[in-house]
Amino acid sequence: MNILVLNCGSSSLKFQIIETDLDLIDKNADVQKAKGVIERIGSQALITLQAAGKPSMKQATPLRDHRAALDYLLRWIVSPEAHIPGIESLGDLHAVGHRVVHGAEKFTRSLIITDEVIRGIEDCIELAPLHNPANLKGIYAARELLGVGVPQAAVFDTSFHSTMPETSYLYALPYQLYRRHKIRRYGFHGTSHRYVAFRYRQLTGKSKEETNIITIHLGNGCSACAVKNGDSYNTSMGLTPLEGLVMGTRGGDMDPSILEFLAHKEGMSLSEIDTMLNKQSGLLGISGLTNDMRDLLAEEHEHQDRRAKLALDIFCLRVKKYIGAYLAEMGGADAVVFTGGIGENSPPIRQRVCSGLGFLGINIDEQLNKEMYGGKEGEIGAKGSGMKTFVLPTNEELLIARDTVRCVKNAPRRW
Ligand code: AMP
Repeated sequence: MNILVLNCGSSSLKFQIIETDLDLIDKNADVQKAKGVIERIGSQALITLQAAGKPSMKQATPLRDHRAALDYLLRWIVSPEAHIPGIESLGDLHAVGHRVVHGAEKFTRSLIITDEVIRGIEDCIELAPLHNPANLKGIYAARELLGVGVPQAAVFDTSFHSTMPETSYLYALPYQLYRRHKIRRYGFHGTSHRYVAFRYRQLTGKSKEETNIITIHLGNGCSACAVKNGDSYNTSMGLTPLEGLVMGTRGGDMDPSILEFLAHKEGMSLSEIDTMLNKQSGLLGISGLTNDMRDLLAEEHEHQDRRAKLALDIFCLRVKKYIGAYLAEMGGADAVVFTGGIGENSPPIRQRVCSGLGFLGINIDEQLNKEMYGGKEGEIGAKGSGMKTFVLPTNEELLIARDTVRCVKNAPRRW
């Protein structure tokens, strides 16, 4: 089946077309046929489209909304210019898989989108006011442009974490706040943590029950996950993606009293504080330079910038802290897995995170670590270490495509 995978943000639409099916999943033989992104929807949109094996095509054109962006994309998909093998008309797109950020307690697995599911995703908007409305725009547009005859599936960022025990997901707040408003840890990046945990299992030949690892997704957003017996046992993001690790522009864990203090001292409104916590903190906030890891590493290396170094040190220390915490919670683990743009591509950051963790059995082989970037996967741990260390590139789109096929064919999820 050709699956169109859509990941809609507030002004962007990322897509892939992936050919997959139950037998292809088993053989790990899925085929990525096209990918791209449309940014700045709502004004002069920037469009990058690429059919597999061909050069990417860049264009700028005004696109009013997500419907116009998807319409543009669908026209390209069936155009002779794109010439995607096996896709001549829209009828060759057999299903659509959508990334949906927040599924709250309602959605604990991927499922086919019905009117009831749409209402459920709408109900979760108050928990993800920036993300779910954008995801819904993609769903409405795909229904309208492809027709209700083309099945669509929703794959939630939160659902992998639905196995967390109460002891992991409850905040130590008055319990009635959980009862009344469902204030709890939900966790995000679930599709990524689930994908790399599954890949670890494939590579090591372990059963689900034998999969006890810590997965660390370091990208512009960052989160850690304690995977116990193959299920999410705890994760660092919370009610929203603000909690936990230091990220590109989010600060992660902090004393909540800072909010009141800031409102008082700086006269900031709650929404200004929220913007600061989401957009102006983290690596960008500490360094005062950038949220981009490559640029920060260059600043530290080439100009010995003090605050770039400080941002990197705090970033790595926070990851260390979560590794220690999760090892204690799980009673040990077999491996640490790095993924995400930084986790997959930055040997120096992995080195800094793991330095000094020899007492836990985490030792990196310097040479293996140096050579592991740019989409390569494998072990970077030194031989004989008590715990293994892996770099496994994430592939959320592939998991969304696979889940979509399983939903359409009503096949059980095996992970
Ligand atoms: P993501 O959100 O997963 O796309 O990751 C984005 C982050 O990965 C940005 O901070 C990038 O600077 C970082 N990144 C990508 N490639 C590298 C690299 N070679 N070295 C360090 N960081 C990188």
